[in-house]
Amino acid sequence: MAHRLLGRLAYGSRYDRIPWGQRVYVRPGERLVREAQWRRLTRRAPVMELADYRQLRPLKENEEFLSCMMCGDPRQQPLFSPGGNGWRYHVVRCPGCGFLYRNPNIRPERLGDLYATGYHTFLTGNYAANRQRRYELTMKAFSPVFDEGKERRLLDFGSGAGLFLELAERRGFDACGVDLSPESVAQANERLSTARTYCGAPDEVPEIAGGGFDVITLWSVLAHLPRPLDDFRRFRRLLAPGGVLLILTVNARSTLLKAYGPAWNGFTKNHLMFYSPETVRTLLGLTGFAGVAFAHHYGDTIEAGTARLSVPLVRRLRRNVELSDGGNMMRVLAFADEEAIGRWGGGPLTVHRLNA
Ligand SMILES: [Zn+2]
Repeated sequence: MAHRLLGRLAYGSRYDRIPWGQRVYVRPGERLVREAQWRRLTRRAPVMELADYRQLRPLKENEEFLSCMMCGDPRQQPLFSPGGNGWRYHVVRCPGCGFLYRNPNIRPERLGDLYATGYHTFLTGNYAANRQRRYELTMKAFSPVFDEGKERRLLDFGSGAGLFLELAERRGFDACGVDLSPESVAQANERLSTARTYCGAPDEVPEIAGGGFDVITLWSVLAHLPRPLDDFRRFRRLLAPGGVLLILTVNARSTLLKAYGPAWNGFTKNHLMFYSPETVRTLLGLTGFAGVAFAHHYGDTIEAGTARLSVPLVRRLRRNVELSDGGNMMRVLAFADEEAIGRWGGGPLTVHRLNA
């Protein structure tokens, strides 16, 4: 692999024992090299009309071809064909706005296929603990928005086995969730005491369809949505005045993506679209949100203080994430309206206004 050779030539073995998710951020000069590589890649990749691109790719019966959902540009820039055990898909870049998405994509009415069976997450102690630590760190990054849940209604969209709802309950939120996997919903309802989860679409559940939520959370869900504009218009409607929407998703500006290309860990089997801070702003602006704030993601072990890196290397990692907006995950807080900005903006959060 090119990245391994590059690392070997430039750095010898000095950084071999640092986990790969951190190495790219701490090796001197690597961020600039990877950014130059990325610019070259996006400049050189051919730009094709959709009609020509269609000729290039076979279409499975549960798939469809898309134009860019963020700006409507039908042109395609093929970038990567990531794959793994028994799966492969094609990732294109929109030459108009830079949005990355899978094309062909999954037809929304067939999305259930991906989650119908065998998709429920394994709740081994470690997995659950790591997930919950990630949720806690993200809430902390946006403190004080999630500190106190009393008298606030929360919807966790794509609630899985209820690991987040369990934390929300503990903080006093009046919480409910919705998910496509029946096994996960059953598992969640077993572990929860006051929160409830439902299987299906939000419109089918009266408690959810009525709206009035103070908080909606999307934990690793955004990349799975085949019709993000429809979903976000719905989320906007479901939010009460002053409400906020929290997103955790893989970051298409990640320096790791620039370094590892098709082998990036954000290209997982069921991911459909890959957002950057720019394209998530477009999505929120198009769907009626008033503002957005970001919290850099430095990695869970760095933020929890359990990483085995020296202090100078931690400092270097943080600096490189900040300079490039290039953390591997993206943490986004969207504000429904001016009231929400007034209530939660200020403090350490920088709110960018979105004018549709
Ligand atoms: Zn576009």
